[in-house]
Amino acid sequence: MGWKGQATVEDEQNVTHKGYFAAGLDSDPELASAISGELRRQQDCIELIASENIVSRLVLEAQGSILANKTVEGLPYARYYGGAEFADAVEGLAIARARKLFKCRFVNVQPHSGSNANAGVFLGLLKLGDAILSMNVAAGGHISHGHPATLTGRDYRIVSYGVSRESERIDLDEVRDLARRERPRMVIAGGSAYSRAIDFAGLRAIADEVGAYLLVDMAHFAGLVATGFYPDPLPHAHVVTTTTYKSLRGARGGMVLWNDEAFSGRINAGIFPGVQGSVLLHGVAGKAACLGEAMRPEFAAYNRAVIDNAQTLARALADTGLRIVTGGTDTGLMLVELAARGLTGDVAAKALELAGLAVNKNVIPFDARPPEAPSGLRLSSNAGTTRGFGVSAFEMIAQWIDRVLKNPDNDSLIGATRKDVAALCAKHPIYQSRP
Ligand SMILES: *Cc1c(COP(=O)(O)O)cnc(C)c1O
Repeated sequence: MGWKGQATVEDEQNVTHKGYFAAGLDSDPELASAISGELRRQQDCIELIASENIVSRLVLEAQGSILANKTVEGLPYARYYGGAEFADAVEGLAIARARKLFKCRFVNVQPHSGSNANAGVFLGLLKLGDAILSMNVAAGGHISHGHPATLTGRDYRIVSYGVSRESERIDLDEVRDLARRERPRMVIAGGSAYSRAIDFAGLRAIADEVGAYLLVDMAHFAGLVATGFYPDPLPHAHVVTTTTYKSLRGARGGMVLWNDEAFSGRINAGIFPGVQGSVLLHGVAGKAACLGEAMRPEFAAYNRAVIDNAQTLARALADTGLRIVTGGTDTGLMLVELAARGLTGDVAAKALELAGLAVNKNVIPFDARPPEAPSGLRLSSNAGTTRGFGVSAFEMIAQWIDRVLKNPDNDSLIGATRKDVAALCAKHPIYQSRP
C-alpha cells in the first residue's frame, strides 16, 4: 500500500541526528530563548508567590538526569518492569529520607503532584459517594480537596467548613457541628491560603467522634513541620499529603505519609494504578535530593528565617495601613486585604508584576468580590528567603509594595521600583553560572 513502514532501511542507518546525545538546549534556539527569558525573570524579580520556591542546583540536576529514560511501575523492589536496580535505589532513598525527616513509618513518593496525592488517597480509602468534610476554597482551602470543578468533587459528597468571621481562623465548633450532622468518612485540614497554626489534635478528636479519617495536607508548611516550626500533623492524622516543591523546596510533585500499616495496600494502590501510571523517576530523584537537603542544619535556619521574614513583611505592610487577614501569620504566607487602597487583587497583582514583584490575587474570607477580581493578595517569604533576603530586605519589599499600590498607574514610579527590585536581586544572585 506504500505506507512508510514498509520501506526497507539500510542497517545502522543514522536515525538519530548528529549531536543527538551531545547537543544541549542551545541547539533549539526557540526553546532556549523562552527558558533563558524565564531564568532572567527569576533572577531579576522578587518571587512572592506562596506556591513557588527556588531549588538548588542539586535538585535541578537530579530532575534533569537520565532517570527521565526509565519506566517503572509498582513499588521499589516489586516492579512490573526489569532493569529497575538503580530506579529502586533512587526511590528507596527518597522513601528512607522522607521517613526519617518526618519520623513516620510509611511514605509513597510517587504522586506526580499534590492533587494526585490527594486523589490517590481518596480513591484508596473512600468509597464512591462518601462524604468528605474539607475547607472551603473561599476560606483558604485547596481545590484538590473536592472542589466541584474537579473529578474528586464529582466522586464524593463534599461538605465544607470555613473560618470564623471574627477571628478568620478555623472554628473547631463549626467543624464539629458539621461532622456530627454530615457524618463524613474523611476530614481534611491544610489549605492553600490559610496562614495560621492548625489544631490537629482537636480535629482528630472530631474525626474519631464520627468515625472519619483525618487527612492533613501540609503542602504549604511541610518544610516548617520537618524543622519543628509548625505543629506536626503526623502524630494526629491518619494520612498526611504534601507537595514537594513549595516549602520543601524540591522537585515538582507530591508525597503521602502515614503510620498505620493497615492503610499501606490501599494508599499505594490508590496512587498506582488508581490515579497514575508509571513513576516520574527523575522527579522522584529531585524529591530524594530535596529531602536530603532538608536534613541539613541550613534547612532549619532557612525555615526559622521564613517565619521571621513573613512576620516582618506582614507587620510592615500593616504599618502602611493594609489589613493582614487574621492579623498576622504562623507560616511563610499571608493574605493581604486591599480595600484600604480601593484596589482589587487583579489590578494590584498586575501593577506589582510590572514593578518586578510576583504575587497572586486571592480571595479573602467572606470576600464579596469574585475570584477573578478578589479583595486580596497572597504573599509568601519562601522564595525570597531562599535567595538570602533577610528582615531588612522584607521591610524594603513592604515599602515597594506600598508605593506601587498607592500609585498603580504611575509608570515612572513603577519603573523606578523595578530598578530597586533588580538592585536587591543583584545582591542575592541565583544560578549565576547557568547559560
Ligand atoms: C499546592 C497545593 C496542592 C496541589 O498541588 P499540585 O502539585 O498543584 O497538584 C494540594 N494541596 C495544597 C494544600 C496545596 O497548597
